[in-house]
Amino acid sequence: MHTSTAIDILAIAAHRDDVEQTCGGTLLAQQALGWKTAILDLTKGESGTRGTAEEREAEALAAATILRTTHREALDLPDGSLTNNLTSRLKIAAVIRRLRPRVVILPYWQGRHPDHYTASTLGYEACFAAGLSKLDLPGEPHRPYKILYASLYADVRPTFVVDITPHIETRLQALLAYRSQYGTQPTGTGLFVPEEDIRERTFATARHYGLLAGVRYAEPFVQKEVALVQDLMHLPVASI
Ligand SMILES: [Zn+2]
Repeated sequence: MHTSTAIDILAIAAHRDDVEQTCGGTLLAQQALGWKTAILDLTKGESGTRGTAEEREAEALAAATILRTTHREALDLPDGSLTNNLTSRLKIAAVIRRLRPRVVILPYWQGRHPDHYTASTLGYEACFAAGLSKLDLPGEPHRPYKILYASLYADVRPTFVVDITPHIETRLQALLAYRSQYGTQPTGTGLFVPEEDIRERTFATARHYGLLAGVRYAEPFVQKEVALVQDLMHLPVASI
């Protein structure tokens, strides 16, 4: 699944299904606004407890279709031992040069899983490298304008949330496309929750972030920059 068409918003994450867990509803909401979205998974899931890398690829492509993304691809960085080194940065930078996104969504920079927080700094540095004209890499230099951090995995206060209310059911379906991970099966039952629990968790988490902003369901993000405002009369979210 390769394309040379420039896309608007690129979500980068360590593992197949991370994007579905943290910002799938946002990708749906942005696609509905007319933006082209894409997903870059840094690993292929060869170290997962359940399912083979091939099964996860088929599931990832099914999920990408449900999320109405223009493009999805996976790099072959080591699952479970993701490392921020030059080789990895160049592989990601090459994809950024090819897809030329204006917005990049990365995982939040702290977390339980080392792959997740490593993907955050690795992704940031790859965005920087992609814009260097003297870098020994094919393609025209390109640096994304905006880098956002999907913070749903992290227990931090978001800078903003995206209203995903019309897309919550589709977002759940994208997550459930990972049958090898979420189907009710005997392998590793201590680690994995059955389908009903995934539905409840998905809706409860989205409801929590929705409540923070006075909408039904939402996904949280952190941006490092301050927000710039011109018209105080059109600031959303009621204070009292
Ligand atoms: Zn993950």
